[in-house]
Amino acid sequence: YVDEIACIGCTFCADVARGTFYMDEQAGRARVFNQGGDEPDVIQEAIDTCPVNCITYVDLEDLQILESEREGQVI
Ligand code: SF4
Repeated sequence: YVDEIACIGCTFCADVARGTFYMDEQAGRARVFNQGGDEPDVIQEAIDTCPVNCITYVDLEDLQILESEREGQVI
Protein backbone atom coordinates (compact mmCIF):
# COMPACT_ATOMS: atom_id res chain seq x y z
CA TYR A 1 0.00 0.00 0.00
CA VAL A 2 1.31 3.46 -0.90
CA ASP A 3 0.65 6.36 1.45
CA GLU A 4 -0.03 8.84 -1.31
CA ILE A 5 0.10 11.82 1.00
CA ALA A 6 3.71 10.98 1.90
CA CYS A 7 4.73 9.89 -1.63
CA ILE A 8 6.88 12.48 -3.42
CA GLY A 9 6.29 11.07 -6.90
CA CYS A 10 9.88 10.09 -7.62
CA THR A 11 8.72 7.09 -9.76
CA PHE A 12 11.39 4.74 -8.34
CA CYS A 13 8.93 2.05 -7.22
CA ALA A 14 7.05 2.09 -10.52
CA ASP A 15 10.33 1.81 -12.42
CA VAL A 16 11.47 -1.18 -10.33
CA ALA A 17 8.23 -3.16 -9.96
CA ARG A 18 6.31 -2.33 -13.11
CA GLY A 19 3.81 -5.12 -12.60
CA THR A 20 2.74 -3.78 -9.23
CA PHE A 21 3.03 0.02 -9.10
CA TYR A 22 2.00 2.76 -11.50
CA MET A 23 2.15 6.52 -11.36
CA ASP A 24 -1.23 8.21 -11.13
CA GLU A 25 -0.91 10.98 -13.71
CA GLN A 26 -3.40 13.32 -12.11
CA ALA A 27 -2.04 13.10 -8.57
CA GLY A 28 1.58 12.48 -9.54
CA ARG A 29 1.79 9.77 -6.91
CA ALA A 30 2.42 6.04 -7.02
CA ARG A 31 -0.33 3.51 -6.48
CA VAL A 32 -0.50 -0.27 -6.40
CA PHE A 33 -2.61 -1.58 -9.28
CA ASN A 34 -1.83 -5.28 -8.88
CA GLN A 35 -1.11 -6.84 -5.50
CA GLY A 36 1.73 -9.29 -5.99
CA GLY A 37 2.24 -8.28 -9.62
CA ASP A 38 5.98 -8.90 -9.33
CA GLU A 39 8.15 -11.44 -7.56
CA PRO A 40 8.47 -10.71 -3.81
CA ASP A 41 12.16 -9.76 -4.11
CA VAL A 42 11.33 -7.22 -6.81
CA ILE A 43 8.55 -5.73 -4.69
CA GLN A 44 10.92 -5.58 -1.73
CA GLU A 45 13.49 -3.80 -3.91
CA ALA A 46 10.83 -1.26 -4.86
CA ILE A 47 9.97 -0.76 -1.20
CA ASP A 48 13.65 -0.37 -0.32
CA THR A 49 14.20 2.22 -3.04
CA CYS A 50 11.45 4.51 -1.76
CA PRO A 51 13.19 7.58 -0.32
CA VAL A 52 10.34 8.44 2.04
CA ASN A 53 9.40 4.91 3.17
CA CYS A 54 5.75 5.30 2.27
CA ILE A 55 5.18 1.76 0.91
CA THR A 56 4.08 -0.86 3.42
CA TYR A 57 2.68 -4.35 3.48
CA VAL A 58 -0.78 -4.43 5.04
CA ASP A 59 -3.20 -7.30 5.50
CA LEU A 60 -6.31 -7.54 3.34
CA GLU A 61 -8.65 -6.17 6.00
CA ASP A 62 -6.49 -3.08 6.57
CA LEU A 63 -6.03 -2.66 2.81
CA GLN A 64 -9.78 -2.50 2.29
CA ILE A 65 -10.10 0.09 5.06
CA LEU A 66 -7.23 2.20 3.71
CA GLU A 67 -8.58 2.07 0.15
CA SER A 68 -12.05 3.11 1.27
CA GLU A 69 -10.59 6.01 3.26
CA ARG A 70 -8.63 7.08 0.18
CA GLU A 71 -11.71 7.36 -2.04
CA GLY A 72 -12.28 10.95 -3.08
CA GLN A 73 -8.91 12.04 -1.75
CA VAL A 74 -7.49 14.90 -3.79
CA ILE A 75 -3.75 15.43 -3.85
FE1 SF4 B 1 6.30 7.50 -4.18
FE2 SF4 B 1 8.04 6.07 -2.81
FE3 SF4 B 1 7.18 5.23 -5.19
FE4 SF4 B 1 8.79 7.35 -5.02
S1 SF4 B 1 9.30 5.24 -4.49
S2 SF4 B 1 6.94 7.18 -6.29
S3 SF4 B 1 8.08 8.28 -3.13
S4 SF4 B 1 5.95 5.46 -3.33
